[in-house]
Amino acid sequence: MTGAGGNRALYEQMILEHNKKPRNFREMEDADHAIEGYNPLCGDHFTVYLKLDGDTVSDVSFTGSGCAISKASASLMTTLIKGKSREEAEAIFHTLHNMVTSNPDDPLDEKNLGKLVVLAGVREYPVRIKCATLAWHALVSAFEGEETVSTE
Ligand code: ZN
Repeated sequence: MTGAGGNRALYEQMILEHNKKPRNFREMEDADHAIEGYNPLCGDHFTVYLKLDGDTVSDVSFTGSGCAISKASASLMTTLIKGKSREEAEAIFHTLHNMVTSNPDDPLDEKNLGKLVVLAGVREYPVRIKCATLAWHALVSAFEGEETVSTE
């Protein structure tokens, strides 16, 4: 178990940092898609804005409020999917989803996870999965042309 405790503290610190200074936290007036995402279980409520160039995310931002995990995940999402195709963005979501729903005792594939690894602690708190994936569900629904999504 070398370093696991240390990593966990580091990840928590990074989540708090994203929560305090969320990336791309702004409205986008000329967005191609704006979608509201709710997680009634926790009270997380965000709007995700997407600008597309064909199938590529040319800009992404979000506004709203929620718990530290939901906000950090939305913030991370905006940094990870900008410049990516819809398919690539959805693949990153699948990687995140597989991680947060995996057994907490399974080893983490840190290389494949990249920055998503900071959300690894969610594996131990299944109730938080909806927080960690809310913005991503909104993203996928926005690609499908929907305007609201709820985790319920
Ligand atoms: Zn939450």
